[in-house]
Order: sequence, then structure tokens, then C-alpha cells
Amino acid sequence: MRAISYTRATDVHSAVEAVTSDPGSSFLAGGTTEVDLLRLDVLRPHRLVDINRLPLTGVEERADGGLLIGALARMSEVAEDPAVVERYPMLSQALLLGASAQLRHMASMGGNLMQRVRCAYYRDPESACNKRVPGSGCSALEGVHRGHAILGTSEHCIATHPSDLAVALVALDAVVHVEGMDGARTIPVDDFFLLPGDTPEREHPLTPGELITAIEVPALSMARRSLYLKVRDRESYEFALASAAAALALEDGVVREVRLALGGVATKPWRARRAEDVLMGERADDAAFTRAATAELAPATTRPMNAFKAELARRTLVRALRTVATTGGGTA
Ligand SMILES: Cc1cc2nc3c(=O)[nH]c(=O)nc-3n(C[C@H](O)[C@H](O)[C@H](O)COP(=O)(O)OP(=O)(O)OC[C@H]3O[C@@H](n4cnc5c(N)ncnc54)[C@H](O)[C@@H]3O)c2cc1C
Ligand code: SF4
Repeated sequence: MRAISYTRATDVHSAVEAVTSDPGSSFLAGGTTEVDLLRLDVLRPHRLVDINRLPLTGVEERADGGLLIGALARMSEVAEDPAVVERYPMLSQALLLGASAQLRHMASMGGNLMQRVRCAYYRDPESACNKRVPGSGCSALEGVHRGHAILGTSEHCIATHPSDLAVALVALDAVVHVEGMDGARTIPVDDFFLLPGDTPEREHPLTPGELITAIEVPALSMARRSLYLKVRDRESYEFALASAAAALALEDGVVREVRLALGGVATKPWRARRAEDVLMGERADDAAFTRAATAELAPATTRPMNAFKAELARRTLVRALRTVATTGGGTA
């Protein structure tokens, strides 16, 4: 194994400076992705900058009634936070349906947003992969692509974004707080994830060394009636084949406000704006839910092995909407 040096940062500035000044460095949070890929020789940092001592933990109340979640808060801690469970059930459910209990105790919120793609070709240094080696080709296009994306794809990459958390955050219009050598800035979570286009190796708008410090979830009273529904090959410990985050505000059975996002089917956490537009002002019934889901999946580009995902995503979105409309959310 290659030699890797390790330093532990004690403040945000020194952590940012350490990685910015040395492009061969990488932040280390829970290590559940970073160490995994380092062992596979897919990531090759020569120095890890451990950020676990930085004061970026906890869930804090904001003046507007929203929450500021520290980048180093653990997935399990946030999933069980009473304010998250009560005000944003879809967020709590998305976290609890991700990975395993052991991983959720280790894995941080910032690390979850920055986790790498789960495409098997990306994780195999012998395979062509434009994300790992730009310009080398995409083995998934003609290879095994059952789990791959049908929305937001390009001829250069069809990998799905793996994070469940990010799907809920994009539906909630959350904002990512980051800090770099030029100071702090915020990025709406929908802009934080880039489509692959011609540059699949570029997944975020971060400059090298920029650190996620927190995730801000704005106040949204309708999110109390919300759901994250995840469909996967196994009941637990598995990434989504299709998932849906849904929040609904109804008035006399009519949709007054709606927030929707899809996971497991797109190259980024997918805000389902077409479906939202179809539903606004409609009666909250199965016919409208089906029209909305069909509109969202209309631009899907499928391949032989993942063609089933268009119908699966449509049904997942309809079921999520029906559940929120009839029960207010609860468990998926
Ligand atoms: C077997 C398995 C199953 C899983 N299943 C799921 C699942 O179903 N759903 C799901 O959503 N996730 C799943 N995951 C992914 C898991 O949630 C992530 O591995 C985890 O959230 C990453 O967090 P971490 O703190 O361990 O990050 P690390 O591994 O420490 O870091 C990951 C990446 O993020 C960077 N990074 C970390 N923190 C920051 C920061 N604050 N600012 C900038 N960069 C940063 C690191 O440099 C690294 O590149 C699974 C993982 C495994 C191993
Ligand atoms: S789908 Fe993306 S990650 Fe997978 S092999 Fe193709 S370029 Fe690489």
C-alpha cells in the first residue's frame, strides 16, 4: 500500500489551508467512502486531513424556524434529532433508509453529500471510466447498467447519484454552507450537484480545498406532511433503485403547495419540477399523481437493462404522493 500521511486539523481555516495548498490532500470525515476508495486504489491522496475535531457538529435552530446542521453531525444523530423528526420527517427517513446503523454512526452529513458514485466501473481501476480518468470512456454504456440513471444522463456518464439525504435536501430547497481561502459562501443544494454533461469528473462547484461547514434547511411548514419512499433490491443496506421525497399542502383536497424529488434514477438528486407544475391546483387524487409522474419521466433515456426504472420511478412517485395525501407521511 502507498504511504499516506495524516494530519488532524483543529480549526476550519487550517483545514482549508492544508487541502488548498496541497492538491494531493483530502479531507477525512467518517472515512466510510474515503478509506474504502483509497483501499481500492481509486482515490490516491498522499495526505489525509482529519476534520473530526472541527466544531461543525449539532443541529441548531435558525431565526426563521429552519435548521443549521453541522457538516460533521453524524447521519444517525441528525435522523433522531426531535426537530428533524417532527418538522422534516422526509429528512429523517432518508437518513435512516441509507447504509447500515454502524455506517450511519460513523458517516457525516458533509461526507454524505461528497460521497463518490457507486458505479462498479468507477470502483475498478482496470475499467474505462470518464469520471475516474477523464476521456477514457464509459464502460457502463455498453456494460452492466441495471442500476444506472435514466434522467440527466450524457453520452459521457450515466451513473446515478447515490445519496438519499441529498434527495430530501433538494426537495426542501436546502443550502450548503462552504468555506474556502476566499471566505465563506452558500450554494443552493440543487446547484451543488452538477449534471455530467461533457465533464463528468466535475461533480460539484467547489474549488479544491473548499470545505462544507453546514447544511441549512429553511423553515417549511408543509414539510411536516412529508415522506421519503425508497425502493431497493433488499429491505436494508442497499442503495435506491428508485426513491421519492414528497411534501404536500392540501386545501379542500386540492394541491396548494408541493415539493418533489427523485433518487436512484438520475445523475444528480432530481428535483421533480415538471411533476410539481402539473400538480399545482389539481385535486389530490391518483389520476393527477399519475399525470404528474408521467410528465416527470417523459424525458427519460433508458437502456436495455435499466428500462424498468422509468415505470418503477413513476410508481414510486405516485405511491409517495398517495401516502402523503392520505396519511400525511409517516413511515415509508
Ligand atoms: C456499504 C455502504 C452502503 C451505503 N449505503 C448508502 C445508502 O443507501 N444511502 C446513502 O445515502 N449513502 C450510503 N452510503 C454512503 C455513506 O452514507 C457515505 O459513505 C457517508 O455518508 C460518507 O460520509 P463520511 O463522513 O464517512 O465521509 P468520508 O468518507 O470521510 O468522505 C467522503 C468524501 O467527502 C469528502 N468530505 C468529507 N467531509 C467533507 C466536508 N465537510 N467538506 C468537503 N469535503 C468533505 C472527503 O474528502 C471524501 O472525498 C453507503 C456506504 C457504504 C460503505
Ligand atoms: S457511468 Fe459514469 S462512473 Fe460509471 S463508468 Fe461511466 S463514466 Fe464512469
